[in-house]
Amino acid sequence: MDTPHDCESVEEIKEALQNNNQAKAMAKIQEYLDRQNNIPLNIAITGETGSGKSTFVNAFRGIKDGDAGAAPTGVRETTKKPTPYPHPNYPNVKLWDLPGVGGRHFPADQYLNDVGFEKFDFFIIFSDTRFRENDVKLAREIQRMKKKFYFVRSKIDNDLRAQKRSQREFSETETKEQIKEDCIQCLQEQGIQSPQVFLVSSFELHLHDFSLLTETLERELPEHKRNALLFAMPNISLEIINKKKKAFQAKIKWHATLSAAAAGVPVPGLSIAVDAALLAGVVTQYVFGFGLDRPSLKSLAESSGVPFDDLMTVIISPLAAREMTADLIIKVLSQCAGTAALIAAEEGSRLIPIIGIPAAMALSFTATYSTLNFILNNIAADAQKVFEKALG
Ligand code: GDP
Repeated sequence: MDTPHDCESVEEIKEALQNNNQAKAMAKIQEYLDRQNNIPLNIAITGETGSGKSTFVNAFRGIKDGDAGAAPTGVRETTKKPTPYPHPNYPNVKLWDLPGVGGRHFPADQYLNDVGFEKFDFFIIFSDTRFRENDVKLAREIQRMKKKFYFVRSKIDNDLRAQKRSQREFSETETKEQIKEDCIQCLQEQGIQSPQVFLVSSFELHLHDFSLLTETLERELPEHKRNALLFAMPNISLEIINKKKKAFQAKIKWHATLSAAAAGVPVPGLSIAVDAALLAGVVTQYVFGFGLDRPSLKSLAESSGVPFDDLMTVIISPLAAREMTADLIIKVLSQCAGTAALIAAEEGSRLIPIIGIPAAMALSFTATYSTLNFILNNIAADAQKVFEKALG
């Protein structure tokens, strides 16, 4: 539970259940889950034209340059205005491609007002060389506006390639340390204390400092925004996949309570209908969150060079890369019900947030709880295998 609003919802849900008002409890749980799925996150990407902003915006969202919805890349200076690029599976998460400050004759505070700085959760300032005066002015102004900023030294693959060619005894680690140190020193000289600099290549997000950047962003975001970022993150490490799994797992007790509440509503057949629809909705979130939907897999196949069919060979769950429907869920469950039932339901029962729950509700809770855990485990395991196949 993150915000006071969330705590209030949970209290209301418990009260409705205790008063046997299952319909109200269902509405409240759904509202609570919907709110959690729609937390807005606005990420500002700024820096000079050509520094790699648009390429990053696309890579982060798993979209190839030139695809529908992609930010146009390699565009020479234009009179750009701030453009939001929503994540294809999580439209509440938007990366904003901002125009560069360079060449503008008005001060950084006016720039920030022009781009509507209030709406951004944080700023990432891009540069493919040393950071310049304009970047520093902007950072100072962002700080004054009480917002966070991070520096990305982009196109690090280019630097490494060039250094490798020119140095006889090339060390990637040392070269990267040197570049980072250089950037930090340059920013400090211009008055930025302890700048956070990350070396990133948008062509290979799984390498260099992108993981570190995402970890830092996640840590420094307010708690209720962390999951929004986490779910939208590309699966560039096993650690991210594990974190996503844990975050999904934490929500299962609410989905199970929703199904328990439905079991308590005296309408014949309602419980099963709610369960199948609920499971289809939740499993769709798992598939999207782990990038196992068809468009994400196709895009991963293109960016990694591993053919789509090869990626599909490591996927075991029949729910990945398919259009999710309640019918498909029922079919899959009927095939694996025995296995699902074997999963210890004991832990599930302990989590029931209601006292004195009637038997049908307890059963429904336990069934949904263990089924979702079972499906989540399978899908997360598939995501790990796909990651290893594509990038390992
Ligand atoms: P923007 O003007 O800041 O949006 O910059 P773009 O994203 O359009 O990138 C400018 C050029 O740099 C394009 O030709 C990109 O292909 C290239 N570029 C962007 N990111 C990278 C990167 O990480 N590595 C390399 N080698 N080139 C990049």
